[in-house]
Amino acid sequence: MHRPDPHSYYDSAQPKARRLQLKLGVDFATKRIDGEVVLEFGANATGLLDLDTKGLEILSVQASGHGPIPWELGEADAILGSRLRLDLPADTQEVAITYRTSPDTMALQWLEPSQTEGKVAPYLFSQCQQIHARTMVPCQDTPVVRVAYKAEVTVPEGLTAVMSAGPAGDEATGDGRHTFRFTMPQPIPSYLLALAVGRLACRDLSPRARVWAEPETVEAAAWEFAGVEDMILKAESLFGPYPWDRYDMLVLPPSFPYGGMENPRMTFLTPTLLAGDRSLVDVVAHELAHSWTGNLVTNASMEHFWLNEGFTVWAERKILRTLHGDDAAALGWAMGQKALEDSLERFANEPHLTVLRLHLTGIDPDDAFSSIPYEKGARLVAALEREVGEDRFHRFLREYMDAHRFTSITTEQFCSFVDAKLPGALVAVNARAYLNEPGLPASAPQFRSTMLDTLTALAAGWAAGERPSASQIAGWSTNELLVYLQKLPRQVTQADCAWLDTHFQLMGRGNHEILVEWLTLAAAADYEPAFPKLREVLLRVGRMKYLRPLYGALEATPRTRALAREIYAAASPGYHGLSRRVVQGMLDKFPA
Ligand SMILES: [Zn+2]
Repeated sequence: MHRPDPHSYYDSAQPKARRLQLKLGVDFATKRIDGEVVLEFGANATGLLDLDTKGLEILSVQASGHGPIPWELGEADAILGSRLRLDLPADTQEVAITYRTSPDTMALQWLEPSQTEGKVAPYLFSQCQQIHARTMVPCQDTPVVRVAYKAEVTVPEGLTAVMSAGPAGDEATGDGRHTFRFTMPQPIPSYLLALAVGRLACRDLSPRARVWAEPETVEAAAWEFAGVEDMILKAESLFGPYPWDRYDMLVLPPSFPYGGMENPRMTFLTPTLLAGDRSLVDVVAHELAHSWTGNLVTNASMEHFWLNEGFTVWAERKILRTLHGDDAAALGWAMGQKALEDSLERFANEPHLTVLRLHLTGIDPDDAFSSIPYEKGARLVAALEREVGEDRFHRFLREYMDAHRFTSITTEQFCSFVDAKLPGALVAVNARAYLNEPGLPASAPQFRSTMLDTLTALAAGWAAGERPSASQIAGWSTNELLVYLQKLPRQVTQADCAWLDTHFQLMGRGNHEILVEWLTLAAAADYEPAFPKLREVLLRVGRMKYLRPLYGALEATPRTRALAREIYAAASPGYHGLSRRVVQGMLDKFPA
């Protein structure tokens, strides 16, 4: 027996699924999916087959040519779920499993009409990363196993289904429902399975890019993301031709727990990116870059997550630099530095979670999630680039992509490849310190610009009474203001809050990065005029990146703690399970 991934029952000595055929019946009334999955092995398979499941009701298992076969569902592990063990008869080509999902499965969030923009129809979306595909489909739920898939999704008439796959036709079923077909010919890791169902409209942005959203937001989304084709072209100049045919995006309702999820052919995005001024499109650059780093070359398990995220953050800033110049990229790195420092502080007592090459046996990957694989990882990639020079690193990247396309690799495989292609580079940048030691190495690359230095100096003078002039304020871009706010002391006075709101008009900001940074300062200062806005944002938005600092800042005083508990009681039914888990964990640690 060999289980290479601590988060999966997958055994590499057993047969591997090559392709899935899914039939999913979406039932909003019971909040369940009635599913059938056929696992195709691409060859004759035989013997034991261990699959991952969590909260699934298994109804029957049939092996091709053999009829029903026995199955055994193991005890439920809190992190892994239950092992579904099959014993395949000799020469099994494929095996079919019928099952039902539970109403509170982690991968699926079922929204009431009131939780959508249109407020007239329910909505369903999936989020399978880190290890939640097993709550939607019995499968070998590890990135080591890659599968192509076909799917048929049946939904109530009037609703549209989209998946991380190409559309392959649709038709009315005649009983008030509608079936949508999909095909994903390229092999993907299970965490990139994705489904959304709702009242959806779309707009074309280029011959290969389209944005989907509810009809109420689709025009705003098309305007916000109009520049996506330029980004695709820049990304192609870094990595080579776009490998997934189409780049479509779906703007989700506000409870979506992440900024974006790089589901291939259908990036999922939070509506908090619709700032109205295209100031938050860095998230699109990030999800797009995942088309190569993550989706094409994939981490072999969550212990190597930095291979996905570190490269992608580096690429995101590379794309932004070619589109908007050095200053914009330096601001991106500065915002990343803040996120990195916050995460290092959060894990101050768990230094083993601040290394890049993680060891996660017995640890839920959602608990290990932070900005560290993103930002520390990106700094290691940038250090390698600086060491060997931009041109040589660019050639290396192309070779790395070509050698590992459609495979899932470990940190150790990555290091061997670097040693072969860029001998000495890992030692020169002290890669061991990034990979195996806590914190950030002192030698990590710095990213500076004149503007960034000005903002840093101004913010450092806050406590001594220094304030930006009216002309400085008028000249700042959205991201410059954001970096300034991020660099202010975490504890300001209520008078300071009033000054900031008056001079920067913070309360009415449509850009959620600015709004949340402001509300975090205001919450920590127990600044009552901001309470209604705090309540409004926390009731509407379920993005974990925002919930964490806001609820964290509300720990400051008895009054803000009471406010946090009151808002959470009202807001939590609308949050995604992942978000609920994070916030509940924070509130549990509040002083009484
Ligand atoms: Zn990412």
